[in-house]
Amino acid sequence: MRAIRRFTVRTVLPVELAPLGELVQNLRWSWHPETMDLFAEVDPDTWQRVGHDPVALLGAVEADRLAELARDRRFLRRLADAADDLREYMTAPRWYQTLPEAPAAIGYFSPEYGIAAALPQYSGGLGILAGDHLKAASDLAVPILAVGLLYRHGYFSQSLSAEGWQQEHYPSLDPGGLPLSHLKEEDGTPARVAIPLPGGRTLHAQIWVAQVGRVPLLLLDSDVAENDNAARDVTDRLYGGGTDHRLMQELLLGIGGVRALRAYCRITGHPEPEVFHTNEGHAGFLGLERIRELTEHRLSFDEAIEAVRAGTVFTTHTPVPAGIDRFPAEMIERQFGGENAWPTVPVERILALGAEPGSPEAGSGAAVFNMAVMGMRLAQRVNGVSELHGEVSRGMFQGLWPGFDLDDVPIGSITNGVHAPTWVAREVMELAGQELPTLIERAQGWESVQKLSDEDIWSIRGKLRGRLVDAARDRLRASWRARGASTAELGWIDEALDPDALTIGFARRVPSYKRLTLMLKDPARLKELLLDPDKPVQIVIAGKAHPADEGGKRLIQQIVKFADGEDVRHRIVFLPDYDMNLGQLLVQGCDVWMNNPLRPLEACGTSGMKAALNGGLNLSIRDGWWDEWYDGNNGWAVPTADGVEDPDRRDDIEAAALYDLIEREVADRFYDRADGTHPRRWLDMVKHTLSSLGPKVLAGRMLRDYVVDLYTPAAGSARELSKDDHGRAREFAAWKLRLTRAWPGVRVEHIEASGIGDTPELGAAMEIRATVALGELSPEDVSVQAAYGKVGVHDELIGPSYVLLSADTTGDDGKAAYTGVVPLDRTGAFGYTVRAVPDHPLMSSPAELGLIAVPEEPAGMTNGTLR
Ligand SMILES: *Cc1c(COP(=O)(O)O)cnc(C)c1O
Repeated sequence: MRAIRRFTVRTVLPVELAPLGELVQNLRWSWHPETMDLFAEVDPDTWQRVGHDPVALLGAVEADRLAELARDRRFLRRLADAADDLREYMTAPRWYQTLPEAPAAIGYFSPEYGIAAALPQYSGGLGILAGDHLKAASDLAVPILAVGLLYRHGYFSQSLSAEGWQQEHYPSLDPGGLPLSHLKEEDGTPARVAIPLPGGRTLHAQIWVAQVGRVPLLLLDSDVAENDNAARDVTDRLYGGGTDHRLMQELLLGIGGVRALRAYCRITGHPEPEVFHTNEGHAGFLGLERIRELTEHRLSFDEAIEAVRAGTVFTTHTPVPAGIDRFPAEMIERQFGGENAWPTVPVERILALGAEPGSPEAGSGAAVFNMAVMGMRLAQRVNGVSELHGEVSRGMFQGLWPGFDLDDVPIGSITNGVHAPTWVAREVMELAGQELPTLIERAQGWESVQKLSDEDIWSIRGKLRGRLVDAARDRLRASWRARGASTAELGWIDEALDPDALTIGFARRVPSYKRLTLMLKDPARLKELLLDPDKPVQIVIAGKAHPADEGGKRLIQQIVKFADGEDVRHRIVFLPDYDMNLGQLLVQGCDVWMNNPLRPLEACGTSGMKAALNGGLNLSIRDGWWDEWYDGNNGWAVPTADGVEDPDRRDDIEAAALYDLIEREVADRFYDRADGTHPRRWLDMVKHTLSSLGPKVLAGRMLRDYVVDLYTPAAGSARELSKDDHGRAREFAAWKLRLTRAWPGVRVEHIEASGIGDTPELGAAMEIRATVALGELSPEDVSVQAAYGKVGVHDELIGPSYVLLSADTTGDDGKAAYTGVVPLDRTGAFGYTVRAVPDHPLMSSPAELGLIAVPEEPAGMTNGTLR
């Protein structure tokens, strides 16, 4: 018989062991090895059996054993120390407390979080990044309050059929068996949020709190009795259902998320967020909820938008158009219109926020509601996740700022990072010793890596590779059994992989742009590399395809079939069920981390950063972070055939380059033992990688960038706008409206330049005079700038510089004369022009209103060549 429902009965700990409960409930254990040691000591065998999951440990350990520990003075002392350490960690001032002006709290929204394998609420990069963001925030005491959903079946776990076809299993998660607590009202009843749906239905949710070090993570869960069956299933699984299901999830995350956050602050006295950070479009409805709050407090829709924008940060995480979240506009109309409309938030205004530039009018049936576009309209600050991704995003979304050059599109970038205590092997941490916490917190002093001895590094690398090989054999055996093999057939697995051979790791989700099977392009060539008698290469592969992605599953099958080959199966393996545990093993144990996306479709990529911090070397297409930080000596760049139209030919070219690199450079260096037992040239590269990349790839660096470049300025703008009962928001909204109406009257009419003679020379100064018609506007409303610099073949300015021109005289006719000086600061083709853009101290970029005036003819262009 199957139970209709399951739940976990928690152990009652003897009072002496109460601190153990606190330690288990705070996920800081997941990146604190000393706490894990203590858990292991509770019952070493059970600890192994439950896969290092402390909640499961407490559920499984015998009462006798607990009673024994409650009398064990030495254990109690260690427990008290660990509890003290946690308390200190939770309260001591850190980096953030040295900042003036920083926000009192930041609301962070993401549809998935990768905190620990024991909390499987992530599918890939976005979730892992969100987890690392929270952990680094905790380490630096950044007051983030995070919001997500609790998926009752998480993301799937993966196994293989006999034919190598991906099988998905959805474990049923019981919140009682996870390190979560219920958010309760003061009277002890569970806190609830409710969202009215069309047709008189309501979506209810309860709120779980996961404590991630200092950061509370609120997880909304719709599996409650008040809901009808469909509503109960809203949080059943991550990225599971159809469009309707996804909309329900996103309504719950965005709208329910803000409400959960408000409830949490009300109940616990936590400060309210001044800044809201939304990751991808999925949480975008949070902006609408905040507009609703403000419009119910007497702001108009336009005024509320300004107040919301000022305090919102939007991060886009994908350069793949198919990765952008879109809904049919009529679904949005149904949710936010008719009987279900919010009285103060007109549905037409909502539809306009998500309308793609140049798309059909809402209501025409063809219209699309684009969550990323709404996210950008509701956030004054927007960023991509690597420099290259920032650039690609400026191109993707340029249509939102018509008339502006690519460089002016107000999308910046903050390159992702990884949380070292989560991803770096304990041995490596210990090698860095006392210095590591400082290195991590301040990102300085990484040169000291050069002083580490080659012997020490090589011996740790060997140990980590050995651990990976052992674990890979265990997993391979389990996988083959699940595929139907008998133990007798599996003797070869004892010899699968070689603990001394050059080990290449390749693990990632399996969307097509990541090209899982590029390495199979020339199977004979790959075999040669694997089976080289002197310099063998072995490859460990892992990755999940999205359950609906048949193409991705076929790629996995191709890899599995190849790796099943009796001639190569000891040198290439596919390990099922890529999750954080397997990820840790791989990034720690592999010598080389390989990545071959189709440039520029990898927004950032982070697994290579994890490998680098463990002394692995990257072998990758220059995409995402690797495009930015590859320096010629910290690994290898696979030449990209970016621009070759035929995808097959492009794959051929790039695969051939990959084989060549592996054979001639990578394997050669790894097996070069001219100096004795260890490869000196290899270790030089490892040390260079650690010292050059170490400080950059840390999530702490990323957090500091977010705090300094985005959160603090956003809080500043939000505070300014909320002053005097939002007086400045009202004023700013009124100003924007006035500017937008009057802008058609703004024209750059005439431009003159003088002071450079016939043969302009470097270092000369050119005086510019421009006449600008301002229509109904006054000079304070407008900034007139000369743009100048290098020009391309079509007279386009390339990465221009700007100087502000000053208004000399204003005539009665509404025309103003502007002057300024442009320095001829570079030789070669040089050009200039003049532009007028709106100007207000509360704008965060000249493109903010999407208004610009440039000369109708490229008037004062000089295309002279400077000497
Ligand atoms: C780091 C990590 C990812 C993301 O890595 P990418 O390089 O961005 O593909 C995905 N899944 C797991 C389990 C990870 O550890």
